[in-house]
Amino acid sequence: MLKHILSLSPDALATDLSAAFPAYRAKQVLAWIYARFTTDPDSMTDLPTEVKEHLKQNYRLELPEVDARLLSKDGTIKYRLKLADACLIEMVMIPEVKKKTLCISSQVGCSRACAFCATGKAGLTRNLFPEEIIGQFILAARDLLPNRITNLVFMGMGEPLDNLDNVLFALRTLQAEKGLAFSPRRTTISTCGIAPGIRHLADSGIKTKLAVSLNSAESETRLKIMPIEKLYHLNELKQALLYFRRKTNFRITFEYILIPGVNMSYEDIRALSRFVNDISCKINFIPYNPTGVEGWSAPTKTQIDDFLQKATIIKQAVTLRKSRGADIQGACGQLAAQVNQTERLS
Ligand code: SF4
Repeated sequence: MLKHILSLSPDALATDLSAAFPAYRAKQVLAWIYARFTTDPDSMTDLPTEVKEHLKQNYRLELPEVDARLLSKDGTIKYRLKLADACLIEMVMIPEVKKKTLCISSQVGCSRACAFCATGKAGLTRNLFPEEIIGQFILAARDLLPNRITNLVFMGMGEPLDNLDNVLFALRTLQAEKGLAFSPRRTTISTCGIAPGIRHLADSGIKTKLAVSLNSAESETRLKIMPIEKLYHLNELKQALLYFRRKTNFRITFEYILIPGVNMSYEDIRALSRFVNDISCKINFIPYNPTGVEGWSAPTKTQIDDFLQKATIIKQAVTLRKSRGADIQGACGQLAAQVNQTERLS
C-alpha cells in the first residue's frame, strides 16, 4: 500500500521528491499542499506532467470527503467527514469577528464515556491517522479562504491523548516552517484528564496549550460525570498538570460544564476554588447542552447568574463560554457523526 502524502513530514516529503526532481519542485508541491490547501496534482497548475504523475503513482493523495456541511444560524459550520474506510467524523468551524477557530477530531468515537458527551456514547472505533488529522485542517482552511484559521483546538471527537503519537505527528507538520507554521500559542489540546498522557505531552517538546475537561473538583461528583476519575484520580491529575506547567510554562484552561443539581452548588465552587488555587489557569464555564442524560437539563439564566455570583470566590480568571452551533448539534458534547439523510450534500 502506498504512503499517504500527508503521512510524511514536510521535510521527509521534500527529501523524497528531491531524489527524483530538482529541489524547487518539492517547494512547489509543499506550497500547493500547505499554502493553497490541495493534495490533488491536477490542481497544481505550475507542475509539469511528470511531477504530477510521480505524485499520483507514489502517494495516496485523498482527503476526507465532506459528507455534510451544516451552517448554524450563528455562523458555526459543522462538517461531517467520511474517511477512506467509510468511518464518519466531525469537525466544527467557529467564526468570530477576530478569530476563526477550527475544532478537529482525533479519533473515530471515543472510549472515555463522559456522561455529557454524545461521542462517548458510541464507544471507540479507531484512532485517526496523522493524514486524517492534517486533512481536516487542509479541508477547513480551503473552505475558509480568503480568511485564515486563527485557532486550532483538539476538542472534536475523541480523546487526543489516547492517540498522542498521531496527534503529535500532525502538530509537528502543522507547526513546521515548511508546513503551515501554525502558532503553538493558538493551538489547544483538550483532555478529559489522562494523567500519563499529560506528562508525555509535556515531555514531547511540542508546544501547545492544554485544556482539561474538569467538570467537578469533588471526586464523587466527577465520577458521575467522567469515568476517567476512577483511573486517574483528581490528585494524580493535579500532579500531572503541575508537571505540565513546570515543563512548558503554558497556562492551563479548565472546562467546567454547568449541570444543575449535579455540580453547581456552593460546595462545588469551594472544591473547585481549592483545586485550582495553586495552578496558573483560567476556567471556562459552559452551560450544559442536553445530550439525553436522564435527569440532566440545561441551566436557566437565573441558575447561571447565581452560580457566577458565588464563583467570585475563585481567584483565577473565569469566563462563561457562549455555546455555539447548538442548532446543528455542533456545540460542546454534541458531536456524534450520526447520518441523517436530509443533511447530506451530495
Ligand atoms: S468528552 Fe472527550 S474524552 Fe469524554 S467521551 Fe467525549 S470525546 Fe471522549
